[in-house]
Amino acid sequence: MSIHLQHIESEIPEKTRLRGYDYYCEGRVKSVFNINGLEWMAVVQGYDDHVIELRMVNDTVVRYACNCNDEEDPCKHVAAVLYYIRNESGKLKRNDPEGYDALKEELSYLPAHVLRYLLLKYAAQSKDFRTFLIDYFKVPPRK
Ligand SMILES: [Zn+2]
Repeated sequence: MSIHLQHIESEIPEKTRLRGYDYYCEGRVKSVFNINGLEWMAVVQGYDDHVIELRMVNDTVVRYACNCNDEEDPCKHVAAVLYYIRNESGKLKRNDPEGYDALKEELSYLPAHVLRYLLLKYAAQSKDFRTFLIDYFKVPPRK
């Protein structure tokens, strides 16, 4: 299924879309970033945190994945990220980091305790990253 950013309203079923819009409005979409112009990643805070990956060509999402178990396809987390990208594109930076794909592959095999170690080590060295992590853990206020 492909979804054009300007057609979210007609291409995502209403119930899922409205739930996703609530998530977006509540500030639950975190850490949206773009790699190489096509691939996007984001975290959506819900009952658990979910990682969303998107592939987008000319404002059309051609592939998406979320690690939740929702039955809806796409799920509310994907809908929330699409609202974020559509409405906040001015805040988003495009990136083309060298070696990114290989790094992503390596990280997918790392156990959680090693990932924690790496995050904390980097957080100790970089104030920007520490601030980013602290902001990440701020839970948006309930309505
Ligand atoms: Zn999801």
